[in-house]
Amino acid sequence: MPVERTEPQGAEELYRHYEVYETIGSGGFAKVKLGRHLLTGEKVAIKIMNKKELGEDLPRVQVEIEAMKNLSHQHVCRLYQVIETTSKIFIVLEYCPGGELFDYIIAKDRLSEEETRVFFRQIVSALAYVHSQGYAHRDLKPENLLIDADHNLKLIDFGLCAKPKGGLGYELMTCCGSPAYAAPELIQGKTYIGSEADVWSMGVLLFALLCGYLPFDDDNCMVLYRKITRGKYDNPHWLSPGSVLLLNQMLQVEPKRRLTVRQLLDHPWVLKEYNSPVEWHSKQPLGYIDEDCITEMAVSLKRSRESTTRLVKEWRYDHTTATYLLLLAKKRRGRPVRLRLEQPPVYDPYCCSPLHQGMQVRTASPPMLCSRYCNRSIGMQFSPPAEKRWLGSPTAQRKQPITARRPQEGRGREREPNKENMAAQQQRDVDIFMLPAPPTPASSKKSTRGPRTGLTTPTHKGKGARTDPLTPHGNFEPVIGDFLLGVTCMWSRIHLRSRSLDLAGTRDSGQRKKAGKVFGSLERGLDKVITMLTPSKRRGLRDGPRKIKAQYNVTLTSQTNADQVLNQILSILPEKNVGFNQKGYSLKCRTHGDYGKVTMAFELEVCLLLRPEVVGIRRQRLKGDAWVYKHLVEDILSACRI
Ligand code: ADP
Repeated sequence: MPVERTEPQGAEELYRHYEVYETIGSGGFAKVKLGRHLLTGEKVAIKIMNKKELGEDLPRVQVEIEAMKNLSHQHVCRLYQVIETTSKIFIVLEYCPGGELFDYIIAKDRLSEEETRVFFRQIVSALAYVHSQGYAHRDLKPENLLIDADHNLKLIDFGLCAKPKGGLGYELMTCCGSPAYAAPELIQGKTYIGSEADVWSMGVLLFALLCGYLPFDDDNCMVLYRKITRGKYDNPHWLSPGSVLLLNQMLQVEPKRRLTVRQLLDHPWVLKEYNSPVEWHSKQPLGYIDEDCITEMAVSLKRSRESTTRLVKEWRYDHTTATYLLLLAKKRRGRPVRLRLEQPPVYDPYCCSPLHQGMQVRTASPPMLCSRYCNRSIGMQFSPPAEKRWLGSPTAQRKQPITARRPQEGRGREREPNKENMAAQQQRDVDIFMLPAPPTPASSKKSTRGPRTGLTTPTHKGKGARTDPLTPHGNFEPVIGDFLLGVTCMWSRIHLRSRSLDLAGTRDSGQRKKAGKVFGSLERGLDKVITMLTPSKRRGLRDGPRKIKAQYNVTLTSQTNADQVLNQILSILPEKNVGFNQKGYSLKCRTHGDYGKVTMAFELEVCLLLRPEVVGIRRQRLKGDAWVYKHLVEDILSACRI
């Protein structure tokens, strides 16, 4: 369902062109939401950053945006649009529905050498390209590689990348990235060559793919650093001699002895079963102009092809760029190169025209589209004049059947599905988030007023529903909600002292007993609340679990009763010091560190699987260290005895 708008002034530009849905991830700097581009109907990822919270990290975002504008490659996530408001920055990106490579690895424990090779070739391809453009990524890790709809990898998060002025051969100084993946020369504070440091991280990544854990790991940073600078790690028995050799060649402490990316392109391990070097040149070169997309935009804009081409070629990363690139993406997927212009009139309370003031109100969506009708823009920050023209006039009608002038549909199918991983892909339910149909005059009211299916269901917003992020169990009756609010607040306070120790598994038994006592009484209270809610009562409060297909971020249980599984999880979370908000069968979980800071956020959702017909638990990391998350979720699920 489209998320209710709480954005600041200036966000009109975003809501004018996109519908915004659930949060699908978050990192150190940003929250990422799923969105849909209205004109093309394409899904996008919208990275949202709060300027105030960014503070002195704001340059990092500028670096990321600049880098992404300069990169266009089949294994690099594509930037579509940048919108800046007084307080926020929205970055609209290619959407990767397959989630993080990290989750894929942990779901499978580890990958076979064959599957690793498929992914590793794509990583080498991306990095060879990124380096060829003069950039070092400097934060390579499986959380920063996303899986697209064709099961291919896309590199994200260029916030820490560097483009040395004198070229990639020039030395860098800044120590950055994630410690476990950082090269020895980097953590020693020496100057280093960006591409060499990236190869080390690729070695760590390769190890993680083949083994399912890290080569250098420790809860204590100093110990971790020592392990990295020594460069000693154990090769598990399942690694082939070829894999052992390749890892050894990449994880060389002395950077000059490390393999280079160029050497990786046709390394014997990389070539095995392919017999061809990695193809690293971009298949989607920057600045490429596709005539079919230009024709469609020209028709819709009522402009000449020449002026449309000129407009697109400005590459402003505004709505024109986004529309062109999304049309191109559609074409590559073999979909019709079509824009949808039939968008509903939207009420604008600030509009000067009495005619428009009488129009239908979209309660859950922003009132900002009136410029289409009276050309009055409201607080727009990033709308160049061309953008206003792009929207067209209210009376714009197509003068002749579009089909007569459109290019042949479905031409130029350039997309390359990852055939090697097709079996895995078939298992995935790409569309976990059910999206409303693209708005049409008839459906717009419905689609913006209430949710359809998805993680939240209409009944959850009923009586007693809570939206306060601190309040768990939004779907319980008020009195129960208040009781549980107290429980969560107490958890949060206890976390201040014990969580990090607990996660490291080093809390002494005295502390454990003391905490156990407090939790014991809280749990008993919680158990009581849960058992008080008989299944029939609960049925009135939530809709029932979603039915989904098996996919790799879903843990199968042997159970068939979703309520039982849900109750088990609910009783385990307090034991693990995990606070949560409940919406039906979906639990938004989080742990807290010192000073109450949220250290990790993830979602667990109890669902029904279609084949086999058992209960599953869908999990998604939203924030926090991926490996700590892995251990915690494993811990929770194994404690559930399901
Ligand atoms: P930050 O810059 O704050 O570290 P990231 O760019 O790493 O944020 O994004 C945070 C998370 O959001 C990612 O780890 C991923 O789970 C999700 N995410 C980011 N970009 C996309 C995308 N294009 N498609 C799908 N999910 C994404």
